[in-house]
Parts: sequence; structure tokens; C-alpha cells
Amino acid sequence: MCGIVGVLGNHEVAPILVEALKRLEYRGYDSAGIATVNEGHLARRRAVGKLVNLSDLLVHEPLTGKAGIGHTRWATHGAPTVSNAHPHQAGPVAVVHNGIIENFRDLREELRGHGMSFVTETDTETVALLTQYYMSQGADPVEAAKQTLARLEGAFALAFLFDGHDDLMIAARKGSPLAIGYGVGEMFVGSDAIALAPMTDRIAYLEEGDIAVITRETVEITDANGSLANRAIRTIQVDATRIDKGGHKHFMAKEIAEQPGMIGQALSHYLSDEDQILLPGGGLDFTAIDRITMVACGTAYYACLTAKYWFEKIARLPVEVDVASEFRYREPPIPERTLALFVSQSGETADTLAALRYCDGKASLIASVINVPESSIARESDLALPIYAGVEVGVASTKAFTCQLTVLLLLVLKAARDRGAIDEETLANHITALRGLPGIINASLALNESMRETAMRLSTARDVLFLDVGRCIRWP
Ligand code: GLU
Repeated sequence: MCGIVGVLGNHEVAPILVEALKRLEYRGYDSAGIATVNEGHLARRRAVGKLVNLSDLLVHEPLTGKAGIGHTRWATHGAPTVSNAHPHQAGPVAVVHNGIIENFRDLREELRGHGMSFVTETDTETVALLTQYYMSQGADPVEAAKQTLARLEGAFALAFLFDGHDDLMIAARKGSPLAIGYGVGEMFVGSDAIALAPMTDRIAYLEEGDIAVITRETVEITDANGSLANRAIRTIQVDATRIDKGGHKHFMAKEIAEQPGMIGQALSHYLSDEDQILLPGGGLDFTAIDRITMVACGTAYYACLTAKYWFEKIARLPVEVDVASEFRYREPPIPERTLALFVSQSGETADTLAALRYCDGKASLIASVINVPESSIARESDLALPIYAGVEVGVASTKAFTCQLTVLLLLVLKAARDRGAIDEETLANHITALRGLPGIINASLALNESMRETAMRLSTARDVLFLDVGRCIRWP
């Protein structure tokens, strides 16, 4: 899950792009690059490894211009080398890409047939070359990008920049999220709101198949059918996109410490003062449900496995849990009165989203437990249940996992109550226990901290002792 950023701005864009890429570092990457257009001239810089290598390169070989695109790559096709790093340029077009172009081999053959040759091992280069080809046939940049996009199979987010065009950027989304940020006389594109947070808090998420033609003053979005589309511009809470370590050495340490607060926050959203379980929107009537299919990937899958025990034991509801990548290709029958429940921190997990779409129209209800309310999975669910964990940067999930469990347990208790599988006293006991959870986690984290301090003191004492013993042994 690498990162894309694009800026049509009013200031030198190279440092802005690098800063935005830094905010996307948490997604992981092996190389990075940027391209800018300056007075019509398209140029790029790329470097392998950490972003500091790209920054160093830019000190020696600066890039000027107020329009630019940037990318952190996580290689899928071709080694992490400078020539495989994005942006990929073919003649007048530069492209950054998240995801995979599945039919790139066929496109390569076709392009070879047009006498075009390749300088990288990536699937992405075909996108740049195809656009260049259509432009060489007389298409303008917008037509060429649209013709190219119509030819691509796979899951991707793409941003294009063009030589000779200081005020044009094209963005497209199919399978990988992409957001447009609206500034004042400036426009931005980013893989997520975090990348765009300091530049603007007015964000619109592209939907599947959307193509956006962007200038500093305008955004024209066409949907998968080629019709003009409006995508809601939301004001994103700056807090929700704030990323700093808050005095901790690592994000993961910070996120472990945040668990009591975030779980407390989740509980306050789902429990009334009278301890009634409140679900958003129309809620969910578990008397109309006979079974649950839970689908997720990675850590969220483990949350589902735990919730299966709870649903079956406490609410007496049979549950099947599937890894999304298996589920979507297994194409299982979905009996009537099934609740399809999807769990994903980002709400963009491609396999989970595909599994959700498979269940659409088959399951009685599609619900999701997500951390990003604007995400595709949330938007495509009948009922989206946010976990209120805040941004999770650590790759090993901590607070998102425990918040997922919290929300799932509340859902289990709601199911148990609706189905008459629990008496009021037991339900009240469970809720009281849940309300005590932040305090218990706090106490255990404090204990952990004091054990860590003791361990550090012991290790210092041991080092001093060894030093002294060493001195004694070496004593002549
Ligand atoms: N498939 C492309 C590549 O290997 C993009 C990978 C990515 O999402 O970073 O270059």
C-alpha cells in the first residue's frame, strides 16, 4: 500500500511533495520519486530507499515548478531500482501508480507492435507509454489518459502530469483509494487524507471507475459510465489526520498507550448513559438474522475469529469466518437471512471490498466494522460501524485491533439481547465489565511500564557489575 500525492499549487512544489510523501511513509515503500512541470517543462527525480535519499538528490539536482506528482513505491513488478521507481515518464507524460495493471503483458506486446520500447520492468510503464502513444496519434492529454484508462485491467490509483501543461493533472481510481483535496486556487491529490491534511481539510474521495481532470480552479469528475459525477466534499477533522509520535519513541508505542482512551471513545459512541447499545442509522435487527458470514484479512481476520466465539456462545448465532482472498474466489452460497459482516481498519482492503461486493444482493444485510468512515467499505455497507481508533500508523495493529474487538463485542451483546439469548442481569454485567476495560488496560500498561523500568535498572546494574568484575579480572 504505497503512496501517491499530487499538487497543483502556488508555491514551489518539490518540498511540499516530499513532506506529503513523508506522511505516507507509514504505508511502507522501497523507493520514491517526484515529477514537476516548470514553465511547461516536465522533469523528475527518483531514489531508492528512504525519502532522505530523494531529499538529498533534490539538494544536488533541484526540481522547480508549482505543479507536481510524487510516489512512494512498494514494488510488485520489477526490483526496487531507480529506473523502476515512479514517476514513469514516456515522452510528454509522467505517471504515478498504486496497485497492479493485470493486463500489462498484452499491452506491452501491443506497444512493441507500435515500435515502442521499454526501459523498466514495471507494469506501470505501459500506462505512460500507452498515453504517449495516444497523444502521438493526435489525442490531447485528457483524451489520451481516458483512452488509456479504458484499456487497463486490475486495481489501481493513478495520477498523470503532462509536459507543456502547468495547470493540469489527471487522477483515476479503480480498486485503490484516491482523494482529491480542494484548496483556494490550489488542488491536491492523495492516497489518503493524511497526505493532504496540512494542505487542506476539504476532501472528496473518488469512487470506483472515476476519472478526475483537475486544474487549480476546477475538478471535473466522470464516473465509470463516462457521465459527469459529483463527489461530496467533506471537511475532515484535522485531529483525525494528525500524525505525530506524541513524545513516544515509536508510533506503535504511542498506539499501544492510546488504547484505553480509544476504547473509551468507542464505548461512548455506542453506549447511552442508560447503558443501551446504540447503533448508527437504522441499526440492525438480529431477530431477522439466522447466521453471520464474517470476512476480513490480516489482523481484522483475527478479530473475526474472536468474535465468532462470542457470537456463538453469547448470542447463539452460527458464524463462519473467511479470509477475504479465499472467500472472493470460493464464491460460497449465501443463504437467506445471512448478515455479511466485513472488518477492515482502512476500509479499503481490496479483497475484503471484493468480498463485500460479491455479497451485495445476496446477504440480507451488509455491515462493516471500519476505522475510516469515508472509506469504500463503509460507503458500500448498509450499516457501517466505526471503531473510533484514530489514525493507526504502526503496521502491527494494536489500538485498531482492540477497538475492533470492542465494537464487535457490543454487536454481540446487541444480537444476544435482540434474540433473547441473554438475560438483563448478564447483559448489564457484560456492559459494566466493558466500561471497566479502559481502566484495566491502563493499569496493565502502567504495570508494564514499571516492569520495563525495573528491567532497565536491572540491566544497568548488571552492566555495572560486569564492568566491575571485568576490571577485577583484568586487574594485574
Ligand atoms: N505495480 C507498480 C510497480 O511495481 C506499483 C506498485 C505500487 O503500488 O507501489 O511499480
